[in-house]
Amino acid sequence: MSDVLNYQSDCLFCKIIKGEIPSAKVYEDDFCYAFKDIDPQAPVHFLVIPKTHIASCGAVTKHNSALVGHIFEVISKVTGEMGITDFRVVSNCGPQAGQSVLHLHFHVLAGRDMTWPPG
Ligand code: AMP
Ligand code: ZN
Repeated sequence: MSDVLNYQSDCLFCKIIKGEIPSAKVYEDDFCYAFKDIDPQAPVHFLVIPKTHIASCGAVTKHNSALVGHIFEVISKVTGEMGITDFRVVSNCGPQAGQSVLHLHFHVLAGRDMTWPPG
């Protein structure tokens, strides 16, 4: 359970960070939280989210972009520790692109062949 900067009471992922909704933790530090996706689309499918409510990639600015760099460092570390070399990182931005939770998140998918382009 952690505090969320700019906590939004109507945000599912803010509630997950706070421990108000249970999740399967993969990794956590002071700045981000990673947990298994509840509806996995690959044998490995987890999400990495900042502990600050940022709506999407479209709300990344010079003031918060260091968090995004940190998240990618974490993705590299966690996949490395899992022994995963081949994986895909996805962030859907906006409903047309498939974003359903309005708190910035990076999907990490691995463990099967991936197709391109995505649908
Ligand atoms: P997106 O559709 O790109 O916004 O991704 C949101 C993701 O959150 C989806 O892959 C959902 O399966 C996942 N999700 C929704 N609710 C939960 C939850 N309670 N715990 C873990 N993952 C969730
Ligand atoms: Zn949030």
